Formats: sequence, structure tokens, C-alpha cells
Amino acid sequence: MDTDRLDHFRSRLELLAEEIRSAMESSKEDSGVVELDTSIGRLSRMDAMQNQQMALELRRRQEQQLQRIANALKRMDKGTYGLCGKCKQLIAEVRLEVSPDVVLCVRCA
Ligand SMILES: [Zn+2]
Repeated sequence: MDTDRLDHFRSRLELLAEEIRSAMESSKEDSGVVELDTSIGRLSRMDAMQNQQMALELRRRQEQQLQRIANALKRMDKGTYGLCGKCKQLIAEVRLEVSPDVVLCVRCA
């Protein structure tokens, strides 16, 4: 992949990481521990716990994606970015456009 394309995907990755970090920052309070406060009813407590569960699940996925982005940036430094992690063939750039942190080509995924 030439330098221009690499730079393009590098800024896509950095932008994506930035978006995830700010989303995580703004949802911080949602994943806090639900107080088992008896002053709120049982139903709203279940609601709160369900919301917390969803927030935790979202956070887990966001962390995984940040990790994938960090790995993709590392592959750029090593010069292996855009190569399938399995068959070592070039990953189609349209596929990288959709998800620049993707590791496998269409056939191996
Ligand atoms: Zn492959």
C-alpha cells in the first residue's frame, strides 16, 4: 500500500479511536455501580441494573475496538497493514474503508 493510502487509513483509525474515547468519556457515569438503594422501587432498580449491564457491554466492545485500532496502527509501523492476518494477501481497500481496523480478508473472515 502506498504512503498516501496508509496516511488516509491512519487518520481514519485515529479519528475512530478519538470518537470511541469521547463516547466512553461521556458515558462514564452510566457504567457506575447501581446503588441498591431501597428508596427506589424494585422495578426501577431492575431497570437501572439492566441499563448498567448494557453500558458495561457497550464499554467492553468499545475497549475491544480500541485494542483493534491500536493493533492496526502497530501493523502500519511494521509495514504489514492491509495484509490479511491469515493468508497474508492484500485486504481489499473497500473493506478497509468500511472498517479500517479489520484483520482478515473477506475469504478468511
Ligand atoms: Zn485472508
